[in-house]
Amino acid sequence: MEAISEKEPSDQRASEENKKIPHHNPTSSDETSIIKYEGWEKYSFQYNDSHPLINTFGVKIISFFGQLINKLGQLLSIIWLIYWFIYVLIITQTDTLGMKIHFAYIGLMIIIILIGNYLLNEVEYYKDTMCKFCGREYACREFKKPEIKEISTPDSFNITCTSFWKCKYCGHEDLRPEKRNLRAYKGKMNSKQRKDPCKKCGKEKAYQEFRRPDIKESYSSITCTITTTTYYKCKYCGSIYIEVEEKMETIED
Ligand SMILES: [Zn+2]
Ligand SMILES: [Zn+2]
Repeated sequence: MEAISEKEPSDQRASEENKKIPHHNPTSSDETSIIKYEGWEKYSFQYNDSHPLINTFGVKIISFFGQLINKLGQLLSIIWLIYWFIYVLIITQTDTLGMKIHFAYIGLMIIIILIGNYLLNEVEYYKDTMCKFCGREYACREFKKPEIKEISTPDSFNITCTSFWKCKYCGHEDLRPEKRNLRAYKGKMNSKQRKDPCKKCGKEKAYQEFRRPDIKESYSSITCTITTTTYYKCKYCGSIYIEVEEKMETIED
């Protein structure tokens, strides 16, 4: 069972787009079901060859400072949490000078985190667009949308993503397995029964779960969308009913 969707999912539009992703449709408990669809390109903004920081200092130095500033941002966040805990929760004093320092600290912390992220993103962009074949910088572009493949077997559920890059100078094509913010696994089968009657034969309490559910967790920066696919079969006529449930949670930590 294979199908290619016309639209693609994204972190922002996951909820809307998930509805357009083709469903797994196995007809028996031991069948492997594979579906393919398109994802979003990594860099939706215009490709840009002007990266003065990397061009001036080199990627190694920018990478070093990016990681250092990133760690500093994390350290400042931890110190701030401790500070907040002691002064706001325990002492509960709000003198004006204390509050001014407090807000200045938060401002500084945010700026440091943003700078660290910016530098690390620059390094990632440099590495992604560097052609490993001819060695030219800012040379590779994604020439088509990545392909996402979901494989559901009776005991496993896996998702792979492949992106397609091409060098604009030497024409070398590079297929890259891509790490998406996805987690896929098999759920437990609870022999669930559906209350609604079978859509084919009309018998009541007919749909019985016949295959372990597939669970997909799709992460964005602050939310996680959990999609659960549950497989039911009518115990009288054998017709299949596939239920796709989606819920969104906020990431707490
Ligand atoms: Zn090249
Ligand atoms: Zn039926």
